[in-house]
Amino acid sequence: MIDRARVAHAIISLGSNIEREQNLPAAVRCLRRHRHIDVEHVSRVYETEPATGAGGGPPFYNAAMLVATDLSPVELRRELRAVEAALGRQRTDDRNAPRTIDLDLAYFDAMAKDFGDWRLPDPEAATAPHVAVPIADVAPDWVHPELGNTMAEIASGLKWPHGPARAVTSLHLDTPFVVRAPEDFDTVDEGYAPRMEELVRQQLLELGEEPEREGLVRTPLRVAKALDFLTSGYSTSVEEAVNGAIFDAEGAEEMVLVRDIEFYSVCEHHMLPFFGKAAIAYLPDKRIIGLSKLARITDVFARRLQVQERLTNQVADAVQQVLDPHGVAVVMDGKHLCMMMRGVQKQESSMVTSAMRGTFKSDARTRNEFLDLIRR
Ligand code: ZN
Repeated sequence: MIDRARVAHAIISLGSNIEREQNLPAAVRCLRRHRHIDVEHVSRVYETEPATGAGGGPPFYNAAMLVATDLSPVELRRELRAVEAALGRQRTDDRNAPRTIDLDLAYFDAMAKDFGDWRLPDPEAATAPHVAVPIADVAPDWVHPELGNTMAEIASGLKWPHGPARAVTSLHLDTPFVVRAPEDFDTVDEGYAPRMEELVRQQLLELGEEPEREGLVRTPLRVAKALDFLTSGYSTSVEEAVNGAIFDAEGAEEMVLVRDIEFYSVCEHHMLPFFGKAAIAYLPDKRIIGLSKLARITDVFARRLQVQERLTNQVADAVQQVLDPHGVAVVMDGKHLCMMMRGVQKQESSMVTSAMRGTFKSDARTRNEFLDLIRR
């Protein structure tokens, strides 16, 4: 999650001419998963002939992306290099060498600065059509801090070397693909999250396993996808979960209670699952909410690394914030695999946590009515 108080906008240009159909999307996915980078928009993909000389090499795919970040330019550039390394890029002195992936920082807000062996803006942003045209795609109104004209103006003044620029219609980078729904697991996706997959592979080695044996070959990919799904709450907001399903209470003032809301979470101490059922109640004031949305709100916070106490409080606070009711009560009953499978092995033990807000906290009768109802 990026720190919105320190957010800057940057433009990254991308290029690949080795396995470009795989490497371009893989690079975008790596950046989408980065906790200090929010990918806001990705351009269309353009095919570009390589620079002449040095044997040429296969044609490139080029694109650009607009991101928000709380990193500094130097930190962001370091992260781009790390993604390049994860995708097998070896930087050489030959500027025209074929490359799996090229990630360059073209702009960082309106910064114009020399960093020694690189500068902002990237000089190619104003001179090279394969850099400028994709940037004009994502940020036509972006103003070059030194030249004073927009990227749309700059791009239209540059001549594409081999006829007009052509967008590649078969490859779309702007639709986020991160596993956020169970059906996404089935999608075969080589190089889904190269850095995470390599870490899982290392972990298998540390466990004395052979990551190359048949049953494990695709395990790093599966684990990366599973972890993305299990932590997808980090990138989901309560507003998204509620999705406008808030209605006028129209005089409704009785307690609303939903029981047996299943939740699945991951304990942050052992990264093992805990799961169980939640009961959520509120006393409406002016607003009520679609009943299924209470389960969706629970998922937003359950799909993170959690402790059950915090999860319970976060759900209560979210309901309080969304509905501003007279009171909110949440009780969660969870079984923790870290307790059930290790050490103590008390397999039937479960943990009950509660969070009371407003009248559920201040008024014993309201609280007892709720507790009676959930015991039935
Ligand atoms: Zn645990």
